[in-house]
Amino acid sequence: MNRPVFLAALMSSFSIAASAQSLDAHEHGHSELSIAVEGSKVVIELEAPGADIVGFEYAPKSDDDKAAVEAAKAKLSKPIELLGIAAAAGCKGVSTEVELEGEGEHNEFHAKYELECSDVKALATMEPVFFKMFPKAGELEVVAVGDNGQMKGELEPGKNVLDLTGIL
Ligand SMILES: [Zn+2]
Repeated sequence: MNRPVFLAALMSSFSIAASAQSLDAHEHGHSELSIAVEGSKVVIELEAPGADIVGFEYAPKSDDDKAAVEAAKAKLSKPIELLGIAAAAGCKGVSTEVELEGEGEHNEFHAKYELECSDVKALATMEPVFFKMFPKAGELEVVAVGDNGQMKGELEPGKNVLDLTGIL
């Protein structure tokens, strides 16, 4: 199996896991980030319970609720800032999708970003400001795959530096 096929298979298994999970109850205090780097292309997906982002998971009702969701979506629409991607990586957004999904009382935020980066090696250290932007968030589980391997990790407030050196 050559690398592109392997990478595609792994990326689709991320998506399957993600969609299977969104049918089940999520875990409050637990958000998930997946990062796939292939050549100059970077695809990042983030899933976070509403509880961690805006502090509620019902469909927004009041004007305050709606404003909180819009403010959160605006923050989530800036992946370079949100994830602390170094300017040296020269990343430009190709596409950004941010949605509030779910039914009933367990809404969650889903974001998907595609970036083109002129120097992916400069992604080796990322310092997300996720916990600063969203103080209600608990931990952030990270799965990353690059041209030289894959890694798993967990970030939390006060431990928010992601080291991808080995896989890029
Ligand atoms: Zn929930």
